[in-house]
Amino acid sequence: MILTDDHCHLTHELFKDQLDAVLERARQAGVKAIICSGVNVPTNREVLALAKKYGPLVRCSLGIYPVDALDIAPDATGLSRQLQHFDVDEELEFIRQHKNDIAAIGEAGLDYHWVKDAVLQKKEKENFAKVIKTAEDLKKPLVVHTRDAESDCLEMLESSTVKNVVLHCFTGRKHLVKKAADLGYYFSVPAVIEKLQHFKMVAEIASINQLLSETDGPWLSPIAGEPNEPKNVIFTVRNIAKVKKFTEEEVANNIWLNFQRVYG
Ligand SMILES: [Zn+2]
Repeated sequence: MILTDDHCHLTHELFKDQLDAVLERARQAGVKAIICSGVNVPTNREVLALAKKYGPLVRCSLGIYPVDALDIAPDATGLSRQLQHFDVDEELEFIRQHKNDIAAIGEAGLDYHWVKDAVLQKKEKENFAKVIKTAEDLKKPLVVHTRDAESDCLEMLESSTVKNVVLHCFTGRKHLVKKAADLGYYFSVPAVIEKLQHFKMVAEIASINQLLSETDGPWLSPIAGEPNEPKNVIFTVRNIAKVKKFTEEEVANNIWLNFQRVYG
């Protein structure tokens, strides 16, 4: 069975000195492609280096996390933190220069969970508009993070010409899942679908041709007490198979086709 993890954070400190073992377990499980997501200036450089070292198994996407981009120091996450002023224009220029080294742009989007202030939310939108423009210009897939901002986020995407929109770990409500499905967007379904009914609903509504699989490792582990890692995408495949009443093999093959269609 061919598996893919199109969104994880292998530059996280939990994986330090563990990477070879993590990737070996992924290979053993049948994982053929992993995309590591950058979120800010330091992590974008780290995922590029990782993809260079562990490619072609490991690829990367370069992102601008909405909260980091506001120069709000988030709580320690285990990822390298953005310590200097985040110059969004400068970073987008960096992304343009690396267009041939990346599978996608992202993660980027809107987050109103951590940012309640209306002025800052407006700033998030301005930043996201610039990211969307870059994805349009480079004709790259856009991996979208959105939290408590799904409606605004879809509205902005709807008026864009981005070819492949990937909603990573989409927690929007049912009518927004339907809207995104109608718009032809992809849903990257996390392994924690094992425990969360919400993602079973997403898998039910979206067509099998719109589904991708991710872990978002080390977060959102389907296994209590263990950091999440790429081998766990089997949980996504297994649960989609149950929801769609397909075999795991069929789901995995479909996701592999979708993966190739989106990321090349
Ligand atoms: Zn992520």
